[in-house]
Amino acid sequence: MNKYPRGDERARMVERQIISRGIQNPRLLTAMREIPRHFFIPPPYDQSAYEDSPLPIGNGQTISQPYIVALMTELLDPGPDDHILEIGTGSGYQAAILGRLAKSIVTIERVPAVADLARSNLAHLRITNVTLVTGDGTLGYAAEAPYKGILITAATPQIPTPLLDQLADGGRLVAPVGGRNIQELTRICRRGTKIIESCHGGVRFVPLIGLHGWEDNN
Ligand code: SAM
Repeated sequence: MNKYPRGDERARMVERQIISRGIQNPRLLTAMREIPRHFFIPPPYDQSAYEDSPLPIGNGQTISQPYIVALMTELLDPGPDDHILEIGTGSGYQAAILGRLAKSIVTIERVPAVADLARSNLAHLRITNVTLVTGDGTLGYAAEAPYKGILITAATPQIPTPLLDQLADGGRLVAPVGGRNIQELTRICRRGTKIIESCHGGVRFVPLIGLHGWEDNN
């Protein structure tokens, strides 16, 4: 069922941008067909919501390209009973997708005005299993740890140690790791005391600003 407008555009987006690049998770594809990305993007860019690109959401921040949302979600592989932490709420779109796939989501946004926008976007869609926290996500959110999945949607020079500490055994962490301008999409899987790391291509994200991320240059 597709209860929101522009369903045809979403179906085309999923076909041409997501499936054609090899994403297969059927629950993820359904969520991307149903969740109205244009609700998360302020005008005039909402017109371009189903194009193959990131878009501005105000305050110098962006909503990620749909394919990157899909790729990071597939790498995270959230299960229906999983408790997930997202760092970098932005528009709230990625959190809404995760909310469809997992049991509960905590998402942290550093910029209060961006957090307010995301809160109203999520309320508009009556999404109730996403908890939004305003603050420095590089510290994680110990009160609700451990998490079966942690997704960082901003560029980090290294994986913040508090996040590694809050990752459950058998859990997965996905993040763009590298320089301020270009990063490698990285997945970390925790198996007991073992950490298994894999790389999944070059990406470009806005910086993760915080105690265990980049300094604020502004
Ligand atoms: N996931 C978002 C979406 O679906 O729209 C896109 C995230 S955007 C690329 C990156 C976000 O990370 C920005 O909103 C930025 O303010 C936020 N951010 C940067 N540093 C942060 C930190 N230390 N803690 C939490 N959020 C942070």
